[in-house]
Amino acid sequence: VLVALADQVAIAVERTQLVSDLQNSRILSETERLRSALLSSVSHDLRTPLVSIIGAASSLIEADEALGPDSRRQLAETIKEEGDRLNRYVQNLLDMTRLGYGALKLNRQPSDARELVGAAARQLGSALRDNTLILDIAEDLPAIDVDPILIQQVLANVLDNAAKYAPSGSTIAVAAAAGKGDLTIAVSDEGPGIPREDRERVFDMFYRVRAADGQRAGTGLGLAICKGIIDAHGGSIHAEPARTDGTGTRIEIRLPLATDRRDTA
Ligand code: ADP
Repeated sequence: VLVALADQVAIAVERTQLVSDLQNSRILSETERLRSALLSSVSHDLRTPLVSIIGAASSLIEADEALGPDSRRQLAETIKEEGDRLNRYVQNLLDMTRLGYGALKLNRQPSDARELVGAAARQLGSALRDNTLILDIAEDLPAIDVDPILIQQVLANVLDNAAKYAPSGSTIAVAAAAGKGDLTIAVSDEGPGIPREDRERVFDMFYRVRAADGQRAGTGLGLAICKGIIDAHGGSIHAEPARTDGTGTRIEIRLPLATDRRDTA
């Protein structure tokens, strides 16, 4: 069933690709060219995990008897991981569409930053690989006035990037501190950092600097969505080096306090 389903999606993706190829043969306006670039980028990003899923599922079916339990488990894990990746990607596309139409609804409520960071960290799971995650978050932080599901998603995205670009065996740190009227959550890693000239553009849609070592190139959507969500909350997000020698990445997110909003309402 899984193979059939994946095949169907692959065919649909193939058709999308065909449409965008056909369009290429005409003289395209800028908008059409952009749409075509977006389509082929999306089809490529959807197809990559699909190919892995189909491959792993086919091996499970065809080499049934010959496979030991370890290999079976590994193939099943590949299907799960790539399925999760697809799921995240489709979620990102949906969020992007909602952000684009200004239709993102915020379900704001007083939320505990510690809990949100904890939930995002749990979501990371095996993506953390052999890196160590340090949470430096006080227990008595004031509540923030946010949509907890969306902010958890932002934190999961930023943590996922940190884990993706961090060198093996390094440390990723999350710190949170309250300021006047807002709360800062910062995620720092010991990776290569983001070059100065790209620091603002990484929040643009489809902008990617480089693929992390040994990692598949990303989609360039994650940080654009994070920025859309944070902006919708009236907060801010930016990137800077984590260390004085310019290496490492520190993503700093500022969000309004719940009390502050009530006071000014
Ligand atoms: P993706 O990671 O899928 O490519 P993002 O929008 O999340 O897309 O990130 C955009 C770009 O910013 C990435 O391609 C990468 O070059 C850079 N980047 C993001 N986070 C980090 C990080 N922690 N360390 C180094 N580079 C990063």
